[in-house]
Amino acid sequence: MSATRLLLLGPPGAGKGTQAQRLVEGLGIPQISTGDMLRAAVAAGTEVGRLAKEYMDRGDLVPDEVVIGVARERLAQPDAGKGFILDGFPRTRAQAEALDDTLGELGTPLERCVSLLVNEDEVVDRLLKRAGIEGRADDNEATIRNRMQVYKDQTEPLVAYYRDKGVLREVDGMGSVDEIAVRVEEALA
Ligand code: AMP
Repeated sequence: MSATRLLLLGPPGAGKGTQAQRLVEGLGIPQISTGDMLRAAVAAGTEVGRLAKEYMDRGDLVPDEVVIGVARERLAQPDAGKGFILDGFPRTRAQAEALDDTLGELGTPLERCVSLLVNEDEVVDRLLKRAGIEGRADDNEATIRNRMQVYKDQTEPLVAYYRDKGVLREVDGMGSVDEIAVRVEEALA
């Protein structure tokens, strides 16, 4: 039996989105990516999108209250009742605590946090390649370096947060997509 209330943690470019997609196919539960939702909000010109855009363009974090609202709403959708793969949320301690509160209210606590371990040069390389393929506005070198620093300062401390809760599994994120998928699967067993 695999855990189904999951969080993928790791720096930008670690492969969270790719592995989340694999899990969507394998487990039949939705991926919840605040980055994807925020990009959609920017494209649609909503209030959330207007608030988020300048932060995203710089590679800074969108304010907690905005992102927490987006994530809470998504987690309350019926399809998340079967489980979910959080990708890119939470990214701060305040977000992690808000997530705990939300899941506590729903009676469905997080079961696993998989932290993908990668080396920074490899990650920057992957992101520069993705910039060429997807043309994301925030995939240029200066923004990528900022996003790495933001990860170290604000998000990496969550590794200890989830270790303390006993749900953390650290997975080697270097290698082929298939190899990493096998390791992730083992970490969910
Ligand atoms: P991502 O696609 O997850 O790399 O997210 C792209 C950008 O969206 C980030 O660089 C942030 O500006 C913003 N973003 C996504 N998720 C969050 C979050 N949980 N907290 C704050 N900002 C976020």
